[in-house]
Amino acid sequence: MRTVFLPSFLNPPCGDPGLWIDLLDEGRSVLLDLGDLRHVANRKLLRVERVVVTHTHMDHFVGFDHLLRLMLGRDREIVVTGPGGFLDRVRGEIEAYTWNLIADYPIRVRAEEIEGDTVRSALYTGSSRMQPEPLPERPFTGVIHGERLYTLHVAVLDHGIPVLAVALRETEHLSVNSDRLEKMRLVPGAWLRDLKHAVRRCEPDDLEIRATTDDGGERLFRLGELAAEIILRAPGQRIAYVTDIRFGPANVEKVVALARGVDLLVCEAAFLHQDRALAEERFHLTARQAGEIARAAGARRLAPFHLSPRYQGREKEILDEAADAFGGPVLQLQGRAPS
Ligand SMILES: [Zn+2]
Repeated sequence: MRTVFLPSFLNPPCGDPGLWIDLLDEGRSVLLDLGDLRHVANRKLLRVERVVVTHTHMDHFVGFDHLLRLMLGRDREIVVTGPGGFLDRVRGEIEAYTWNLIADYPIRVRAEEIEGDTVRSALYTGSSRMQPEPLPERPFTGVIHGERLYTLHVAVLDHGIPVLAVALRETEHLSVNSDRLEKMRLVPGAWLRDLKHAVRRCEPDDLEIRATTDDGGERLFRLGELAAEIILRAPGQRIAYVTDIRFGPANVEKVVALARGVDLLVCEAAFLHQDRALAEERFHLTARQAGEIARAAGARRLAPFHLSPRYQGREKEILDEAADAFGGPVLQLQGRAPS
């Protein structure tokens, strides 16, 4: 199945946490956690439209200033979501700088925090010289973003402090029946992407679509008839991202609910189980616990990450332990954002 979400890690397994998710053919990306971003190309960071910061321990938030600086010249809004207390953290970061010369800059940063059943937001713009403008509160329903392509779900977990776990769900997976395409003597191209967009937007059936034919020409179709011929619909792709949680029934229950049946669970595996006393003391999971949670959630694949630096060079032991407990395929995602 052609996937819409293309996930990769920002750093090697023992480095700062961060998951980069490109949205196929969309020219936009979602970023989960803001560890060290200095090695990521600016042109890639400029594609980011949404960020979730699970919590503001330094290894998850140190990249905020770097991203902020890049956003100064971008006119598309970026939304950054965190747990309770996040608005104060963001304000502290922004107030550390002087903003008298940026009135003409297009920057728009919307920061939001989830506290109890409420989402509070503040908008920062160049024209307001980065003074926070409070936006209306809205109820927290578990979904913080919904659109034609995907929804973004969040649960609040316990890491000694509140921490967010995240799930991305593709609304519906659309693929192309290539046999039909060939029989109709059509060839793939940008028109197929436009066709899928039109289907997702529920455009009228009589909308005209220009398809490319195998002799290099064009053929005109109505959206309804063409979609019925060549578009296949399937349940969407799902990814969950869980890091920095203590092992306990309340957390496990919430992760299982958030990540039930996901295609990929990206989950911290900070310690080996033999070091579980350390994991407990620091409110982290062991690799075995990560594997057990993935199995309980019925995840199809598990990508363990955020290993304690003490295991540098011993990453395979962590992966093996997680794989044993999970009983399913364990992945090592690429250690750098894709170009
Ligand atoms: Zn932490």
